[in-house]
Amino acid sequence: MTTAEAINTLYYDDMDILHMYNWRFFTPEKRDRDDTPQRQKQYHTYYAPMNIERWFIPLFKSVELVPKSSKTVARSQIKCASCEICSYHLGLESPDLSPPFQDMYICDVCNRTYHWQCLLKTSCCNATEREAIDGNDLWACPACINLNQNEEESRIHFQKREIVEVSWNPTWEPEELQNMCESFKQSLKNYEEQITTLNLSQPASDEHLNDLQKQG
Ligand SMILES: [Zn+2]
Ligand SMILES: [Zn+2]
Repeated sequence: MTTAEAINTLYYDDMDILHMYNWRFFTPEKRDRDDTPQRQKQYHTYYAPMNIERWFIPLFKSVELVPKSSKTVARSQIKCASCEICSYHLGLESPDLSPPFQDMYICDVCNRTYHWQCLLKTSCCNATEREAIDGNDLWACPACINLNQNEEESRIHFQKREIVEVSWNPTWEPEELQNMCESFKQSLKNYEEQITTLNLSQPASDEHLNDLQKQG
């Protein structure tokens, strides 16, 4: 699996494109004798900010998706914080699915989230413990309850840095990405409609690109 495939597998649903601002023809460097470089049509693509695991940043950089800025976010506060046991998201309340999807506990050590019903079903907790859990300021999840003090402190320290919200510098993406990425396909369609309307169908001049890159 390539780095790009790994990113696509793990973050496919999270990678939203805000807009495109330009396009160009680009000829990649020739790699070997059999590989004739193909001229690509590329679009200057602005991805929406997203939450990722901090350890993933170098992998994004390796495919030239470079953070413009980043800030840490608590795992339990991210939009799709899910139950560690059933993997359903915090806010999921489809009428077809039986509740509860919001009755959740947040571990004070690792900051991961758990449905109370899932804790009961897996016998990680029993119903009589609930009052004590609610009355106590600190709750450690099944994964954290048996840690010694040092381990607990290091996990608390780690979880505070674990997730980051990043905004990205724009990238030049090949037209073919639309075959893999629905968000790209939609943005490309919007962009093409826009340039048809504005009659801006000339490729970007170098000067124009430099200005854009400075802005980015
Ligand atoms: Zn659950
Ligand atoms: Zn925990």
